[in-house]
Amino acid sequence: MSATATLDDWKSRAASLSIRGQAFIGGKSEASETGKTFDCVSPIDGKVIAKVAACEAPDVEKAVRAARAAFESGVWSNMAPAKRKRVLLKFADLILKNRDELALLETLDVGKPIRFSTVVDIPGAAAAIAWYAEAIDKLYDEIAPTDPSAIAMIMREPVGVVAAVVPWNFPLLMASWKIGPVLAAGNSLILKPAEQSPLTALRVAELAAEAGIPEGVFNVVPGFGETAGQALGRHMDVDCVTFTGSTEVGKLFLKYAGESNMKRVSLECGGKSPNIVLADAPNLDAAAKAAAFGIFFNQGEVCNAGSRLLVQESIKDEFLEKVMAVGKRMQPGNPLDPATMMGAMVDRTQTERVMGYIEAGRKAGAELKMGGKQANTESGGFYVEPTVFDKVDNGMKIAQEEIFGPVLSTITFKDAADAIRIGNDTIYGLAAAVWTRDITTAHKVARALKAGLVWVNAYDAGDITIPFGGYKQSGFGRDRSLHALEKYTQLKTTWINIG
Ligand code: NAD
Repeated sequence: MSATATLDDWKSRAASLSIRGQAFIGGKSEASETGKTFDCVSPIDGKVIAKVAACEAPDVEKAVRAARAAFESGVWSNMAPAKRKRVLLKFADLILKNRDELALLETLDVGKPIRFSTVVDIPGAAAAIAWYAEAIDKLYDEIAPTDPSAIAMIMREPVGVVAAVVPWNFPLLMASWKIGPVLAAGNSLILKPAEQSPLTALRVAELAAEAGIPEGVFNVVPGFGETAGQALGRHMDVDCVTFTGSTEVGKLFLKYAGESNMKRVSLECGGKSPNIVLADAPNLDAAAKAAAFGIFFNQGEVCNAGSRLLVQESIKDEFLEKVMAVGKRMQPGNPLDPATMMGAMVDRTQTERVMGYIEAGRKAGAELKMGGKQANTESGGFYVEPTVFDKVDNGMKIAQEEIFGPVLSTITFKDAADAIRIGNDTIYGLAAAVWTRDITTAHKVARALKAGLVWVNAYDAGDITIPFGGYKQSGFGRDRSLHALEKYTQLKTTWINIG
């Protein structure tokens, strides 16, 4: 579609879309073993847009066998890195070539604005896969500085069969942060998309095959967490689970691993990130815009959303006005309209959850300054207004629990030490930000915050070159950057006696 595409253009493209709902196992699209399907509902209008294979343990069994056979055959795991690179670059290229179709699937499936799925989600996914493809034939192994009577080679080998279990907020983008390094390192992959968002994963599996990724190397098993997700977590022949999702489910994967084959688990989980604005912030307008986008972008369904706004007392009223002025311009609308900045919540359950938190905030005595209601209910879809609470105490539920919706909790602080104390008073540690013109304060606060990623005078900035992941109950292991390869490779030492 051209840059000038309208709501009607996207609607007519959506009407002519053919949507795949079958699992992708061993290079083929297939119904689930039981024949069961589940409804894929678009949150734009609450209508069913596809029937999707509901994979369960037998399908997982089939996928693991296909993945294992491909891995042991060496067809991918033993392919020269330069050749794997070319296949993966073609794959990334095909994702870009099919950008509009994939963006449309993502928008229909989860309700995110088309203006963002076309420029953030899909190109971001292609870029992530291309980045790891480019890296893989430039990495060298090591020779240890042993006694000269030996040569000890320390080499990285792929771990084998990797299961990636991913969430619904950035379905393809979150998956791509795993697909890239998992495949680049030579593993076989079984991707389990969230039940709310299976469509792009299924389409992309076909593109992987078209690019030349051998059968069995890239499998997709759509289905529910309790069934397909748990079967992967407990499978005796899955070597590694790479998970992105809630802290609650992340803990289950540790349990599954402990009760099965001690598979490696890496967890990218929830957050309640503090966005700290000191009175000497260099540009309050820029900080306010970033704070508003930090919580309202993607309907607040962002793991590193700046959901706790910590503002120095002396500028709180002025700053909050500026944040709300930006937020007011982000009222939810039809996600297929290129003008829409905020779309639909992923489904009814999530909408009710968010509304429950808004109610809890009110009851706890926080002051509702903006929003707080559902919107566009006549559409049949699920929309929540951008919502701002003031006078929040950090002990309140809305400041402690991840809401995963467009709800901002504003908390004031006296000085930097106070901000650090409040910022760290959470079970999470995914991201944080500090706004100040004082370089010493910036470094001190950044160092004291217990988070995997700290921004100074920015919010939600970054790219594939930097690691992403959390401290504390936000998880462990990192997506993005070369560090991600550590999760999907293991060290083999070969000691050669030449004495
Ligand atoms: P979720 O934990 O409910 O689901 C994530 C995945 O786990 C889905 O594929 C789901 O089917 C599966 N699952 C659910 N229950 C399961 C079970 N009992 N056994 C096995 N698998 C199960 O999370 P969600 O609601 O899809 O996504 C929102 C969460 O994801 C938020 O907490 C958010 O912070 C987090 N997230 C984190 C990051 C990050 O990089 N740290 C990025 C995006 C989202």
